Amino acid sequence: MRIYADNAATTKMSEAAIQAMIPYMNEIYGNPSSLHSEGQRAKEALTDARGRIAGLLGCEPGEITFTSGGSEADNQAILSAAGLGGRKGKKHIVSTAFEHHAVLHTLEKLEKQGFEVTLLDVHENGLITAGQVREAIREDTCLVTVMYANNEIGTIQPISEIGAVCREKGVIFHTDAVQAAGHLHIDVREQNIDMLSLSAHKFHGPKGVGALYVRKGIPLTALIEGGAQERGRRAGTENIPAIMGMAAALEEACAGIDENAVRLTALRDKLIAGLSQIPHSALNGDYERRLPSNVSFCFEGIEGESLLLLLDDKGICASSGSACTSGSLDPSHVLLSIGRVHDVAHGSLRLSLSEENTGEEIEYMIESVKEVVEYLRSISPIWRDLVSGKKEFILK
Ligand SMILES: *Cc1c(COP(=O)(O)O)cnc(C)c1O
Repeated sequence: MRIYADNAATTKMSEAAIQAMIPYMNEIYGNPSSLHSEGQRAKEALTDARGRIAGLLGCEPGEITFTSGGSEADNQAILSAAGLGGRKGKKHIVSTAFEHHAVLHTLEKLEKQGFEVTLLDVHENGLITAGQVREAIREDTCLVTVMYANNEIGTIQPISEIGAVCREKGVIFHTDAVQAAGHLHIDVREQNIDMLSLSAHKFHGPKGVGALYVRKGIPLTALIEGGAQERGRRAGTENIPAIMGMAAALEEACAGIDENAVRLTALRDKLIAGLSQIPHSALNGDYERRLPSNVSFCFEGIEGESLLLLLDDKGICASSGSACTSGSLDPSHVLLSIGRVHDVAHGSLRLSLSEENTGEEIEYMIESVKEVVEYLRSISPIWRDLVSGKKEFILK
């Protein structure tokens, strides 16, 4: 038996998404820029998908640019807003310490070009407030970029309030909504969002395709030069099958959004309750304001990587918060941002659910995690030091 609980990393494609793609690979495979009818049929499909996605986000079709995914959308949004600001001498950007690397690394690049970035401190519950954003905005601020929902700890930021502050101050507001799209309600007009990134493979669509919404009137800078596709905002022949798959997946996800939220929240809370019984453990991120799919824990005295490997042996696909980069074990910047110390951050586990998970799977996961944590602690020198009192417990 295999249990897939790593849906924040990527999701299984839905049958609707797969079926929506097939005709655009073997029948309607024309290039939308071609003038013949095969090309024009592909172009009609592209127009149709753009309209449907725009409808689901509450914007106009002309405000949607298709990209290769969430990372590209984040890069393009931030670099475009910075370019606009820079030309007016506005070189200050406000963001948070727990953004996705697609945002953080783009901001680091801008810092090297003379931009100043304020990363807001994240409260220990994994949330920031609109008040913090208001305080951080200066005369020379050209962009606020705050993610909608965090990919590691699942916390949901007060996007509408932040949007209102940015609108009042006349600052462009971008949100990385990759974890939110298809899972939480989005209405870019109502929420005062100027730019929004999404990625199809996080809501049961195909990989390698995403979209960037940009409010009319804000010019986008192309990252990729070439043909005039996407009205000059993104060169390259459009990936029609993937775009059709994305439109179908988003439609399906949005149609089931409330029903799924109720079902997933019940599973999530059962999982949280079960894992909370493990001594010296803690839930990462606010209990209330979190994605219905996200469970993130730290267990003191163990190594997240070992936990993942042993869970994999038990048939469970999970993830840890820590990114293992080039041999060095850096703990997750997200967990550090909410005040977890290195030792504790290393013992992290993220289980991210989908509509396919069942109550039995939740029970099996609780039992398996309990067993594995107990085993790893029994062989851990750090745990021995904690139990003997040589070191002090940080988690109750
Ligand atoms: C997955 C993810 C991305 C990157 O999206 P890709 O389509 O894989 O490039 C960006 N931001 C967040 C919050 C994500 O979860």
